[in-house]
Amino acid sequence: MDVRIYTLVCNFEKTVKEIKSKIAYFRGEGIKGEISNSLISDRAPPPSPPDPPAVKLNHQQLLPPTPSVYLDNKKHAFSPQLQEFCLKHPIAVIRGLAAALKLDLGLFSTKTLVEANPDHSVEVRTQIQQPSDENWDPQSGKKVWACISHRSHTTIARYAQYQASSFKESLKEERDKSASGLSDSDSKDSMNFPKRRKLSNVAPSFNTKGCNQPKMLKFGTNVDLSDEKKWKPQLQELMKLPAFARVVSAGNMLSHVGHVILGMNTVQLYMKVPGSRTPGHQENNNFCSININIGPGDCEWFAVPDAYWGAVCTLCEKNQINYLHGSWWPVLEDLYKANIPVYRFLQRPGDLVWVNAGCVHWVQAVGWCNNIAWNVGPLTARQYQLAIERYEWNKLQSFKSIVPMLHLSWNLSRNIKVSDPKLFHLIKNCLMRTLRQCSMILEFVKHKGVEVKFHGRGKNEASHYCGQCEIEVFNILFIREQEKRHVVHCMECARKQSPNLEGFVCLEEYKMEELTEVYDNFNLYPTISATAEQYRLM
Ligand SMILES: [Zn+2]
Repeated sequence: MDVRIYTLVCNFEKTVKEIKSKIAYFRGEGIKGEISNSLISDRAPPPSPPDPPAVKLNHQQLLPPTPSVYLDNKKHAFSPQLQEFCLKHPIAVIRGLAAALKLDLGLFSTKTLVEANPDHSVEVRTQIQQPSDENWDPQSGKKVWACISHRSHTTIARYAQYQASSFKESLKEERDKSASGLSDSDSKDSMNFPKRRKLSNVAPSFNTKGCNQPKMLKFGTNVDLSDEKKWKPQLQELMKLPAFARVVSAGNMLSHVGHVILGMNTVQLYMKVPGSRTPGHQENNNFCSININIGPGDCEWFAVPDAYWGAVCTLCEKNQINYLHGSWWPVLEDLYKANIPVYRFLQRPGDLVWVNAGCVHWVQAVGWCNNIAWNVGPLTARQYQLAIERYEWNKLQSFKSIVPMLHLSWNLSRNIKVSDPKLFHLIKNCLMRTLRQCSMILEFVKHKGVEVKFHGRGKNEASHYCGQCEIEVFNILFIREQEKRHVVHCMECARKQSPNLEGFVCLEEYKMEELTEVYDNFNLYPTISATAEQYRLM
């Protein structure tokens, strides 16, 4: 147990001892309205990116081999060792998964997608065609971190047409080149773009004398495959995956959110031409992600272990780009100079990439291909802790936490039995902090003479976010009509608009007694035997 967690657990146990009746304990503190929304503690310093590991890495350590497994049968895919392998590395590639499970990847081919739902919406990113792994600014002729991409929309049928014509055009160019004896000897096969240039420190041709316009490409992204009626055969096929990689499973935290989080607990599709880039990022709230390449071309991945995210964040800031809000493609030399290791590998058709919690990664298409992806949250202390840490960091950075961690924590405490003490204490601490905040908010509201109306919660009702600051609003909602719409506010934003809360309606989703009961009933579940499942699902 690390020191921080140990301290947390000790403080927590001390607090529990002090609490005879939780509601009574919190009484009197809320009147002033100084209510900390920290999930760590009232006095905790604001979260900050971690210092990277101090160990100086040599050349080989800066280019670590990518953890990979080759699957040759179905049994292997379902072995607990495969999940253990994934959980133990920052990123892993599972090769030959589709073949081992007899997954029909053809269901996600452009041809089948067009036949199924031609008019389905596709978000388009128009990007500059960049050479190999580099990112050049066409204006300055320098390697840069900033990525330029413009957003628009199209349909599957129209993107399919673009994808096909881009492929035909490239074939024609290759034919013309070979006819003139200038064929690129590095191009391996027709589905992948001839990508290597020989001089990597010279700006590509789009910069010479500024006369050439950079060549642009279109990346079809975030295609929503959540609709079970529209995408039934596709979604059914994915049920063949082992539980830890499935979109929905009892051992996946995101299946306990109780509502859809598009692209996280539902499937998204990406349609690519060579050079299509997903800029650097960590997943929302540091959840894990699953990505399968449908093919026919390859994708190239770059990844940095979670422990170095603070160092990457610092480099973004040096390049005047915001780590969370900005769009960036790391200059590899800058990473190596800063002692940051980078995994680099190809994902071929049928390969599954597992991105572990907090791993920083960026991806480019080498060939013409489609990918499918979603997030998962293994029920581990590490996943939960990293999710909460990012939740806190997001608040400080005014970045929306797509995973409503408060709502999720309360659902977890109702739905699962936890026998890992570290995970248990982390969840219980979050419950205690929210219980305390709710109690203080209610006290403040009553002190101001505002009536609290019980509202309850609809089944599968989405979590609430503040319409002003996008923070998750749990249990006590401040509602005000704005442009004929009822807008949810957090207490802080409500008070900024109206210090005495005039003009706001205060709604309560759960009775405090109900939450207290859930809190009391959430206890550490004893491990029955060494071989028993860690998490017993009710
Ligand atoms: Zn707010």
